[in-house]
Amino acid sequence: MKLIFEKSAAGRRGVRTAPTDVPRISIRTDLLRQEPANLPELSELDVVRHFTELSRRNFGVDNNFYPLGSCTMKYNPKVAEHIASYPGFADLHPLLPQLRMGGMLTQGALRVLHEIDLLLREITGMARFTTQPLAGAHGELTGMMIMAAYHREQGNKKTTVLIPDSAHGTNPASAAIAGYRVVSIPSNENGVMDIETIKQHLNDEVAGLMLTCPNTLGLFNPHVKDICDLIHSVDGLAYYDGANLNAIVGKARPGDFGFDILHLNLHKTFATPHGGGGPGAGPVGVKKKLVPFLPVSVVTKRDDGTYALQYDRPKSIGYIAPFYGNFGVVLKAYVYILMLGKEGLRRVAENAVLNANYVKEKLKGHYRPAFDRLCKHECVFTISQRMAQNGIRAVDIAKALIDKGFHPPTVYFPTIIAEAMMIEPTETESKETLDSFIDAMIEIAEQAENEPEKLKAAPTTAVVCRPNETAAAKNLNIACS
Ligand SMILES: *Cc1c(COP(=O)(O)O)cnc(C)c1O
Repeated sequence: MKLIFEKSAAGRRGVRTAPTDVPRISIRTDLLRQEPANLPELSELDVVRHFTELSRRNFGVDNNFYPLGSCTMKYNPKVAEHIASYPGFADLHPLLPQLRMGGMLTQGALRVLHEIDLLLREITGMARFTTQPLAGAHGELTGMMIMAAYHREQGNKKTTVLIPDSAHGTNPASAAIAGYRVVSIPSNENGVMDIETIKQHLNDEVAGLMLTCPNTLGLFNPHVKDICDLIHSVDGLAYYDGANLNAIVGKARPGDFGFDILHLNLHKTFATPHGGGGPGAGPVGVKKKLVPFLPVSVVTKRDDGTYALQYDRPKSIGYIAPFYGNFGVVLKAYVYILMLGKEGLRRVAENAVLNANYVKEKLKGHYRPAFDRLCKHECVFTISQRMAQNGIRAVDIAKALIDKGFHPPTVYFPTIIAEAMMIEPTETESKETLDSFIDAMIEIAEQAENEPEKLKAAPTTAVVCRPNETAAAKNLNIACS
């Protein structure tokens, strides 16, 4: 494909605009260009073809299966996008008045913010939510700031937060930014946090714990309630990383396990596509004793049935995002939850778990499962001994999948598993799609054992070939010829 500048032909143009009727003003000559800008000259058709071609080089869940573990790259119903684009929502200005004249325009949006709070409370077992945080990591930071505010108010001098070694990297980062020292707790032989190890690290310095359950290995910790009780026994708070709630949504509630604070990723579980740097939302829910610390503003429903934003909250940790967070993302989650209902949400979890276990069972004769037992929403494999002897690494399997038309799984995470391949099929994939992925993985496994040098050359069909990883760090121009 030619670069857009290479397609340029002098004098060619797409549109001709009418002569301007804006009066000319004089601009200081030292601010003017000395030479005309070097812009490509193209017809409208050239431009349409250029961008269409670029879009075809992208891979998204609308193209094919995208099992990027821990990222929940599921299909999000288009109806939620459609409703979020209604002008009554999309064109709202955040400074429109809440009541009086403009109330006509904003009461509906405030109602959405109020009602999603109620829905998320019911889904998670928490007392109240803020929908302001703009991402999962931002929710974690908000939660850890609430934890710190609570201990300050109690007069507790606590310094440390316990986090398992399988945690998403944002967990220790959030705890550290909130001012805590992080103690990393090694996973036990079952791949989960061990009660006895936690006891060894438990003391009055412990402000709390951050736990992902099921964790990034897709494993549920059966002792999760006891772990929360232990943390509470030293007046600590238990934080639940609910980024991947589709593992348990509708089936179990972190609030019932004993967690005091949690965040959800609306851009994983609740109808906003995840990735590409697009907008997300990481609402934070807390138990009753922590409600006063939630960020401003919060939405309340008044006795007369109108909705209003409350700013007068003396214990609040303050503003953590402009205005009301990513309202469009919150709105899509609201549509999604109402559309699925209780039963539908339960089936999200059931099918997410069923699909992950189906893939695990079908592939376990070809790759080594990190833990060969029932998993939740994702499963982690590593390479077989024979593959290792052939010099095959997880990255080779991932690159070969690109040639088969699939997005690779997450590789080399969690870091506690060597050559990890983390597969999250999600609940929206059909058995036929899973079967074609499984067939591709099995073909690749056979090649890895019998013709390893072929795999080393993959991908051969992609725009970007296999870059030399060391060289690519210094030279970004890695396009194949
Ligand atoms: C994705 C994820 C996060 C972080 O969410 P972002 O929105 O990317 O900041 C945190 N924890 C877990 C377990 C995750 O999977």
